[in-house]
Amino acid sequence: MAVSTDRDPKGFVRPSSIAESIHERIYERIMSLEIPPGARIPIDGLARELNVSQTPVREALTRLEREGLVRKAHLIGYSASPQLTRKEFDDLYKFRLLLEPESARQACLKLTPDTLARIESAAADMEKGGPPVDRNSRYSRFARADAHFHDEILRVADNEFVRQALNDQHIHLHIFRLMFHSRVTQEALEEHDRLLSAFRRADADSAYEAMKEHIERSRDRLAAAFE
Ligand SMILES: [Zn+2]
Repeated sequence: MAVSTDRDPKGFVRPSSIAESIHERIYERIMSLEIPPGARIPIDGLARELNVSQTPVREALTRLEREGLVRKAHLIGYSASPQLTRKEFDDLYKFRLLLEPESARQACLKLTPDTLARIESAAADMEKGGPPVDRNSRYSRFARADAHFHDEILRVADNEFVRQALNDQHIHLHIFRLMFHSRVTQEALEEHDRLLSAFRRADADSAYEAMKEHIERSRDRLAAAFE
Protein backbone atom coordinates (compact mmCIF):
# COMPACT_ATOMS: atom_id res chain seq x y z
CA MET A 1 0.00 0.00 0.00
CA ALA A 2 1.93 3.03 1.23
CA VAL A 3 5.18 1.11 1.03
CA SER A 4 6.78 3.01 -1.83
CA THR A 5 6.06 6.46 -0.40
CA ASP A 6 6.79 5.68 3.21
CA ARG A 7 10.55 6.12 3.06
CA ASP A 8 12.96 8.22 5.06
CA PRO A 9 15.17 10.80 3.26
CA LYS A 10 17.86 8.19 2.61
CA GLY A 11 15.40 6.00 0.86
CA PHE A 12 15.18 3.29 3.49
CA VAL A 13 11.77 1.83 4.01
CA ARG A 14 10.63 2.83 7.48
CA PRO A 15 9.73 0.09 9.93
CA SER A 16 6.10 1.24 9.95
CA SER A 17 5.77 0.50 6.25
CA ILE A 18 7.34 -2.94 6.69
CA ALA A 19 4.72 -3.60 9.34
CA GLU A 20 2.07 -2.35 6.92
CA SER A 21 3.16 -4.62 4.10
CA ILE A 22 3.49 -7.64 6.40
CA HIS A 23 -0.02 -6.95 7.69
CA GLU A 24 -1.25 -6.81 4.11
CA ARG A 25 0.34 -10.12 3.18
CA ILE A 26 -1.02 -12.00 6.19
CA TYR A 27 -4.42 -10.35 5.69
CA GLU A 28 -4.55 -11.54 2.09
CA ARG A 29 -3.67 -15.10 3.08
CA ILE A 30 -6.44 -15.16 5.66
CA MET A 31 -9.02 -13.61 3.35
CA SER A 32 -8.23 -16.04 0.54
CA LEU A 33 -8.31 -18.98 2.99
CA GLU A 34 -4.71 -19.81 2.10
CA ILE A 35 -4.45 -19.75 5.89
CA PRO A 36 -7.66 -21.72 6.59
CA PRO A 37 -10.07 -20.80 9.41
CA GLY A 38 -8.89 -22.28 12.67
CA ALA A 39 -5.32 -22.89 11.45
CA ARG A 40 -2.50 -22.02 13.80
CA ILE A 41 -0.30 -19.10 12.78
CA PRO A 42 3.16 -19.59 14.28
CA ILE A 43 5.00 -16.27 14.58
CA ASP A 44 8.49 -17.68 14.11
CA GLY A 45 7.56 -19.72 11.06
CA LEU A 46 5.77 -16.84 9.42
CA ALA A 47 8.62 -14.42 10.16
CA ARG A 48 11.10 -16.83 8.54
CA GLU A 49 8.87 -17.36 5.56
CA LEU A 50 8.34 -13.63 5.01
CA ASN A 51 12.00 -12.97 5.72
CA VAL A 52 11.46 -10.40 8.45
CA SER A 53 12.00 -10.26 12.22
CA GLN A 54 9.21 -11.36 14.53
CA THR A 55 8.31 -7.77 15.47
CA PRO A 56 6.33 -6.77 12.37
CA VAL A 57 4.62 -10.17 12.35
CA ARG A 58 3.55 -9.66 15.95
CA GLU A 59 2.33 -6.16 15.16
CA ALA A 60 0.36 -7.41 12.18
CA LEU A 61 -1.24 -10.17 14.23
CA THR A 62 -2.23 -7.72 16.96
CA ARG A 63 -3.98 -5.59 14.37
CA LEU A 64 -5.64 -8.60 12.73
CA GLU A 65 -6.85 -9.64 16.16
CA ARG A 66 -8.56 -6.25 16.51
CA GLU A 67 -10.14 -6.81 13.11
CA GLY A 68 -11.42 -10.17 14.32
CA LEU A 69 -9.53 -12.19 11.73
CA VAL A 70 -7.18 -13.95 14.15
CA ARG A 71 -7.48 -15.09 17.73
CA LYS A 72 -4.91 -15.38 20.43
CA ALA A 73 -5.06 -18.14 23.00
CA HIS A 74 -2.92 -18.48 26.09
CA LEU A 75 0.02 -20.90 25.54
CA ILE A 76 -1.20 -21.75 22.07
CA GLY A 77 -0.66 -18.47 20.28
CA TYR A 78 -2.42 -17.12 17.23
CA SER A 79 -4.80 -18.89 14.91
CA ALA A 80 -7.09 -17.76 12.10
CA SER A 81 -10.61 -17.05 13.39
CA PRO A 82 -13.25 -19.61 12.55
CA GLN A 83 -15.68 -18.73 9.78
CA LEU A 84 -19.02 -17.24 10.71
CA THR A 85 -21.58 -19.85 11.64
CA ARG A 86 -24.86 -19.91 9.74
CA LYS A 87 -26.59 -18.30 12.72
CA GLU A 88 -23.98 -15.54 12.99
CA PHE A 89 -24.29 -14.94 9.28
CA ASP A 90 -28.09 -14.64 9.46
CA ASP A 91 -27.92 -12.40 12.51
CA LEU A 92 -25.33 -10.18 10.91
CA TYR A 93 -27.50 -9.62 7.86
CA LYS A 94 -30.57 -8.90 9.97
CA PHE A 95 -28.48 -6.39 11.88
CA ARG A 96 -27.33 -4.75 8.65
CA LEU A 97 -30.88 -4.61 7.33
CA LEU A 98 -32.02 -2.84 10.47
CA LEU A 99 -29.43 -0.13 10.17
CA GLU A 100 -28.06 0.34 6.67
CA PRO A 101 -31.13 1.08 4.53
CA GLU A 102 -32.27 3.75 6.98
CA SER A 103 -28.72 5.14 7.09
CA ALA A 104 -28.75 5.39 3.30
CA ARG A 105 -32.01 7.33 3.50
CA GLN A 106 -30.55 9.68 6.15
CA ALA A 107 -27.35 10.12 4.15
CA CYS A 108 -29.37 10.99 1.07
CA LEU A 109 -31.25 13.71 2.98
CA LYS A 110 -27.97 15.20 4.24
CA LEU A 111 -25.87 14.95 1.09
CA THR A 112 -23.89 17.93 -0.10
CA PRO A 113 -21.90 18.10 -3.34
CA ASP A 114 -18.73 17.43 -1.30
CA THR A 115 -20.01 14.40 0.56
CA LEU A 116 -21.55 12.99 -2.61
CA ALA A 117 -18.15 13.35 -4.28
CA ARG A 118 -16.54 11.45 -1.40
CA ILE A 119 -19.01 8.59 -1.69
CA GLU A 120 -18.55 8.50 -5.45
CA SER A 121 -14.81 8.37 -5.10
CA ALA A 122 -15.10 5.50 -2.60
CA ALA A 123 -17.26 3.68 -5.15
CA ALA A 124 -14.74 4.36 -7.92
CA ASP A 125 -11.91 2.94 -5.77
CA MET A 126 -13.64 -0.41 -5.87
CA GLU A 127 -13.60 -0.56 -9.64
CA LYS A 128 -9.93 0.17 -10.08
CA GLY A 129 -8.26 -1.10 -6.91
CA GLY A 130 -4.77 -0.79 -8.38
CA PRO A 131 -3.00 -3.25 -10.63
CA PRO A 132 -4.39 -6.73 -10.15
CA VAL A 133 -1.27 -8.37 -8.73
CA ASP A 134 -3.20 -11.58 -8.29
CA ARG A 135 -6.70 -12.73 -7.53
CA ASN A 136 -6.10 -12.86 -3.78
CA SER A 137 -4.98 -9.32 -3.36
CA ARG A 138 -7.65 -8.00 -5.72
CA TYR A 139 -10.34 -9.76 -3.72
CA SER A 140 -9.09 -8.76 -0.28
CA ARG A 141 -8.70 -5.17 -1.43
CA PHE A 142 -12.25 -5.26 -2.69
CA ALA A 143 -13.44 -6.27 0.79
CA ARG A 144 -11.72 -3.23 2.30
CA ALA A 145 -12.98 -0.91 -0.41
CA ASP A 146 -16.55 -2.13 0.09
CA ALA A 147 -16.23 -1.52 3.84
CA HIS A 148 -14.95 1.98 3.08
CA PHE A 149 -17.82 2.73 0.68
CA HIS A 150 -20.45 1.66 3.22
CA ASP A 151 -18.68 3.61 5.95
CA GLU A 152 -18.63 6.81 3.89
CA ILE A 153 -22.42 6.55 3.67
CA LEU A 154 -22.66 6.07 7.44
CA ARG A 155 -20.46 9.11 7.97
CA VAL A 156 -22.82 11.25 5.96
CA ALA A 157 -25.82 9.75 7.76
CA ASP A 158 -24.10 11.15 10.84
CA ASN A 159 -25.13 8.87 13.68
CA GLU A 160 -21.94 7.84 15.45
CA PHE A 161 -23.66 5.10 17.47
CA VAL A 162 -24.93 3.41 14.35
CA ARG A 163 -21.62 3.85 12.57
CA GLN A 164 -19.66 2.42 15.48
CA ALA A 165 -22.04 -0.50 15.96
CA LEU A 166 -21.55 -1.53 12.33
CA ASN A 167 -17.81 -0.90 12.24
CA ASP A 168 -17.20 -2.92 15.38
CA GLN A 169 -18.37 -6.04 13.57
CA HIS A 170 -15.85 -5.78 10.71
CA ILE A 171 -18.68 -7.17 8.65
CA HIS A 172 -17.07 -6.91 5.26
CA LEU A 173 -13.97 -8.79 6.24
CA HIS A 174 -16.00 -11.68 7.57
CA ILE A 175 -18.50 -11.94 4.79
CA PHE A 176 -15.90 -11.64 2.05
CA ARG A 177 -13.86 -14.34 3.70
CA LEU A 178 -16.81 -16.70 3.37
CA MET A 179 -16.57 -16.86 -0.36
CA PHE A 180 -13.99 -16.25 -2.95
CA HIS A 181 -15.95 -15.45 -6.04
CA SER A 182 -15.77 -12.88 -8.82
CA ARG A 183 -19.56 -12.82 -9.29
CA VAL A 184 -19.83 -11.36 -5.80
CA THR A 185 -17.79 -8.37 -6.80
CA GLN A 186 -19.37 -7.62 -10.19
CA GLU A 187 -22.96 -7.78 -8.97
CA ALA A 188 -22.15 -5.68 -5.91
CA LEU A 189 -20.76 -2.95 -8.16
CA GLU A 190 -23.99 -2.83 -10.15
CA GLU A 191 -25.99 -2.52 -6.94
CA HIS A 192 -23.74 0.27 -5.71
CA ASP A 193 -24.41 2.09 -8.98
CA ARG A 194 -28.16 1.99 -8.34
CA LEU A 195 -27.55 3.43 -4.89
CA LEU A 196 -25.34 6.18 -6.29
CA SER A 197 -27.94 7.08 -8.84
CA ALA A 198 -30.55 7.50 -6.07
CA PHE A 199 -28.10 9.75 -4.20
CA ARG A 200 -27.54 11.85 -7.32
CA ARG A 201 -31.29 12.29 -7.75
CA ALA A 202 -31.58 13.10 -4.02
CA ASP A 203 -34.26 10.42 -3.87
CA ALA A 204 -34.14 9.26 -0.24
CA ASP A 205 -36.76 6.51 -0.60
CA SER A 206 -34.96 5.00 -3.57
CA ALA A 207 -31.69 5.16 -1.62
CA TYR A 208 -33.38 3.18 1.18
CA GLU A 209 -34.66 0.59 -1.31
CA ALA A 210 -31.37 0.34 -3.18
CA MET A 211 -29.42 -0.31 0.02
CA LYS A 212 -31.98 -2.83 1.21
CA GLU A 213 -31.82 -4.67 -2.08
CA HIS A 214 -28.01 -4.61 -2.09
CA ILE A 215 -27.80 -6.16 1.36
CA GLU A 216 -30.48 -8.77 0.63
CA ARG A 217 -28.77 -9.79 -2.59
CA SER A 218 -25.39 -9.90 -0.91
CA ARG A 219 -26.91 -12.19 1.71
CA ASP A 220 -28.40 -14.48 -0.93
CA ARG A 221 -25.15 -14.67 -2.91
CA LEU A 222 -23.09 -15.52 0.13
CA ALA A 223 -25.60 -17.92 1.69
CA ALA A 224 -24.36 -20.39 -0.94
CA ALA A 225 -21.17 -20.70 1.11
CA PHE A 226 -23.15 -22.74 3.64
CA GLU A 227 -24.55 -25.24 1.17
ZN1 LIG B 1 -21.50 -3.00 -0.86
